[in-house]
Amino acid sequence: MGLRKTHLWDMVGAYPVCTACGSRKIARDALSAWNMATQAWELHSILDGFCCEDCGCTALPAWKLDAEFRRKRIQRLNDAVRHGDPSNATIVVTAGLKAEGEDKLHKIVDAIRCFSDFSEDNDPHGEHDCGAVEHNGEKVFWKIDYFDHALKMHSPDAANPSVTHRVLTLMLASEY
Ligand SMILES: [Zn+2]
Repeated sequence: MGLRKTHLWDMVGAYPVCTACGSRKIARDALSAWNMATQAWELHSILDGFCCEDCGCTALPAWKLDAEFRRKRIQRLNDAVRHGDPSNATIVVTAGLKAEGEDKLHKIVDAIRCFSDFSEDNDPHGEHDCGAVEHNGEKVFWKIDYFDHALKMHSPDAANPSVTHRVLTLMLASEY
């Protein structure tokens, strides 16, 4: 499974920085047009010129990713799937776990929904993307994978729900 190339500035959490002084305060040239209904000048089109508001440098900015912003977004999206939000998500239950019966499966799904005991140890990246719960002494793993909407490739940006289909897989520890 491949990864489609995405420009850095298309990624969630991307921001421009001045290549001369490192400032994040980059202004970009634009044209505005008068809107009679709102009685205001509104953004009409974006032009190619850039200017650093701190040092005045007009070179093209560099692009960086705010890792913490991305982490929080991914965590929130993963929590939503685990808590039962069906948008852009599929839940997969392994054959072994399905064979345990409806009733048990419902209890396990509830336990996974309620799980909140994340720590440095079980969630080192802070993305809430995998975990384990115990039911009647049996351990069940859950993990979330990120695909594109066609389910053919990895998601180009797991922090962007408009390009990501999440798959939550539930399996018995013995099936891992
Ligand atoms: Zn600057």
